[in-house]
Amino acid sequence: MDCNLTNKLAFNFMLGQSQEVPWHKLLWNTYIPPSMAFISWRFLHNKLPTEDNLKKRGCIIVSICCFCKKSEESSLHLFLRCAIIGQLWLWLMKGTDQILDLSSINSLLLRSTVINSKMVKYLMDSAIVHIIWSIWIERNNRCFSNKYCSIKVARLFGIALKTRRLTHIQEVSWTPRHSGCIKLNCDGSSFGSPPCGSIGVVLRNSSSVFLGAFAQNIGYATPLEAEFSACMLELEKAASLHLQNVWVETDSLRVVKAFNKQDGVPWRIDKCSKVTYFMC
Ligand SMILES: [Zn+2]
Repeated sequence: MDCNLTNKLAFNFMLGQSQEVPWHKLLWNTYIPPSMAFISWRFLHNKLPTEDNLKKRGCIIVSICCFCKKSEESSLHLFLRCAIIGQLWLWLMKGTDQILDLSSINSLLLRSTVINSKMVKYLMDSAIVHIIWSIWIERNNRCFSNKYCSIKVARLFGIALKTRRLTHIQEVSWTPRHSGCIKLNCDGSSFGSPPCGSIGVVLRNSSSVFLGAFAQNIGYATPLEAEFSACMLELEKAASLHLQNVWVETDSLRVVKAFNKQDGVPWRIDKCSKVTYFMC
């Protein structure tokens, strides 16, 4: 009888015959925590619960990437193809002077670039896995906790913020109003030519408890008209619900000025508004 039976031998015997995959040692090693490697492993097998995978399993959801808001969410887009996430990979490439192939997770992990230093190779492997893990955590925070990494962090990584039409970016946060006050947050936008507008409204009480929300397509509307419509439709809703002591929050300075000074209202809105009494 052979007395050299080890746990490893027993485990391999139970596991049966299996082929070693080329990325095995890139993920499962001593310099990458298993919890982080696990996310990359699931990505490799396309087993992460991204929205495209949830759809395949029968979930009826409207899918959109939480970073760029331009494409449906899939593993490939979320981790490699998204323009916003691309800035992270660019940052890594610049910092390490390496070229990364972002066409697939396989090509990303099994890099063809020759790295002579073992330490640099370990650093690259762990940086890639850590970035994938961080993207997944940030995605979950955005989708489920409504938490966003701060602008300071984005700047640290050199992530380009959309500043084309902005002279400065100000970080803002949502805060509840005083006791008994209901806060109405509204927004409106329009797109296309001729412009088609939509509005959205969220109601929360002073304890930040979600009371309700509605969104509506308002048809032909310029961006400014959409902002006004959002504000007025939410006030109409508040009036129909007999809500007292409401606080309106909008990101449109024109709307705020119009409500305060009672002028500057687009004539089409002014004519069809049912809530002019709010502005008197
Ligand atoms: Zn995206």
